[in-house]
Amino acid sequence: MQSSVERKQIVNTLNFYEFDVLVIGGGITGAGIALDAVTRGMSVALVEMQDFAAGTSSRSTKLVHGGLRYLKQFEVKTVAEIGKEREIVYENAVHVTEPEWMLLPFHKKGTFGPFTTSAGLKMYDFLAGVKKEERRQMLSAEETLQKEPLVKSKDLLGAGYYVEYRTDDARLTIEIIKKAIEKGAVCLNYTKVKSFIYNDENKIIGAEVLDLVTNKRIVIHAKKVVNATGPWVDSVRALDSIENNKKLKLTKGIHIVIDQKHFPLRQAIYFDTPDKRMVFAIPRDEKTYIGTTDTFFEEDIQNPIANQEDVDYLIGAVHYMFPNVTISSEDVESTWAGVRPLIYEDGKNPSEISRKDEVWQSLAGLFTIAGGKLTGYRKMAESIVNAIAKQLGEEQYGPCVTKHLMLSGGDVGGSTQFESFIAKKQELAESYGLSREEGRKLAKFYGSNVDRVFQYAHILQSVKTSSLPLSLLAQIYYAIHYEMAYSPVDFLVRRTSMLYFEVDLYATYKDEVLKVMKDLLHYSEQETKNFQKQLDKLYEQATLKESRGAH
Ligand SMILES: Cc1cc2nc3c(=O)[nH]c(=O)nc-3n(C[C@H](O)[C@H](O)[C@H](O)COP(=O)(O)OP(=O)(O)OC[C@H]3O[C@@H](n4cnc5c(N)ncnc54)[C@H](O)[C@@H]3O)c2cc1C
Repeated sequence: MQSSVERKQIVNTLNFYEFDVLVIGGGITGAGIALDAVTRGMSVALVEMQDFAAGTSSRSTKLVHGGLRYLKQFEVKTVAEIGKEREIVYENAVHVTEPEWMLLPFHKKGTFGPFTTSAGLKMYDFLAGVKKEERRQMLSAEETLQKEPLVKSKDLLGAGYYVEYRTDDARLTIEIIKKAIEKGAVCLNYTKVKSFIYNDENKIIGAEVLDLVTNKRIVIHAKKVVNATGPWVDSVRALDSIENNKKLKLTKGIHIVIDQKHFPLRQAIYFDTPDKRMVFAIPRDEKTYIGTTDTFFEEDIQNPIANQEDVDYLIGAVHYMFPNVTISSEDVESTWAGVRPLIYEDGKNPSEISRKDEVWQSLAGLFTIAGGKLTGYRKMAESIVNAIAKQLGEEQYGPCVTKHLMLSGGDVGGSTQFESFIAKKQELAESYGLSREEGRKLAKFYGSNVDRVFQYAHILQSVKTSSLPLSLLAQIYYAIHYEMAYSPVDFLVRRTSMLYFEVDLYATYKDEVLKVMKDLLHYSEQETKNFQKQLDKLYEQATLKESRGAH
């Protein structure tokens, strides 16, 4: 397994070999491609200029969903394909995905009526091959209010009730990367592709990349190079000869997090907005999160942030559907914003542009993949690796095997055994110096990798000098040694989501997390200062303190 402590050896490997495939981008798309390719027998390198999942793949609505709303646009094939993927993603990674019953209320003069909801959900079940016990139910107005008393009762006609899956997008991406590494892929974060290397026939045979930790150049040779950089695909294509027949259109979507004290939602719900869009509100532990918006975006892709207008829009949507909830932007504990990489379609508004993915290849041989959804990552990977295998000589490589391949941490005996797996681990926790509750939480979070985290706890309990709780400290050690976390933000945002869902703990622990990671990874003084600034800035942005200060 790759550790951030071993960056130097990883860089040497990247410099040394000629790989079959070089993947640019460590979001879910690139991660999926690396895993698919390596498990077919290709040698694979993957480089990511930020942390893994730091782009759109940590900024989504965090649902593994079939895209019900695309039925309205008659994208039947897309819905059928990604709808079926939901259960596959779930079974391969039960520790990062869980079923979430979703309420779809309908009111007089709403987007959907009883008939369209019933027919739409039935079609959804059919297209996605949903198992019997999870097929849609139709509820009366009274039954709807029993499920969720906060829903607007005026003009309520009833609701559809159907299953989606909730996930942790960044952790899902990281579990895919870890599995790819376990299978032999060489993956490195904080390495940015700067230019391509061409042969005499003007074909791409690799890339020059910059290690952003050491500022050193790395030369990576590969037979095929894939640009899986999401919202950045156009800027990476611009490093190759520019033959821009297709262009991306970027749109921004934000989410807000409210404490259950102020918005005590019991039930996940997908609801109409006053401007005829649809928005999710999802309970998660002590919080409720709401999203998303959809507006054209032309600012800094690396650091999209929620502004007051975005936040007001979502608060307006909440008041519209939940009239007894009174929240203001003061109640917004945290926010995040993501950028959708959509394929340009003239004359369409943001919500109408298709979410389907496309693959194309430049004259110099660069493969580019764009569009798509988190949920469909495995099928996207399969299609691009099929194309690569064809060009490399199909007979050398096996078929796609990811359909039944557990992701890292997923070996818990299947979804039906997960609860008993957690219960067993909980029993063991005390012998590692952890409470049963901590053991339970960790087992749910790390799945079959939890033993490693327990082992760190066991070792650290007698030697720890940090004031951090033992379980958190063990998580930091695991994140560095098994998940390639390099900066404190990697840990507090992508490895744990603390910035979004436990923002008070983020504020409490951030300085100590920096101190611990500094000792383990030997940051320079400059790095330490930069990381401190980054920690503080992200806090200000997520909690809207920055935008409020600017008003
Ligand atoms: C608001 C919002 C909500 C969404 N909700 C859902 C949802 O609930 N369910 C769902 O299925 N989908 C959802 N999506 C869609 C989904 O999140 C995206 O389709 C998916 O995350 C895109 O992943 P990606 O890997 O293509 O891009 P990214 O995750 O952005 O990854 C691209 C990576 O490339 C890296 N990169 C760029 N340039 C370089 C370079 N020169 N060298 C090296 N690396 C580079 C970037 O740093 C980045 O990490 C949502 C999207 C948004 C914006």
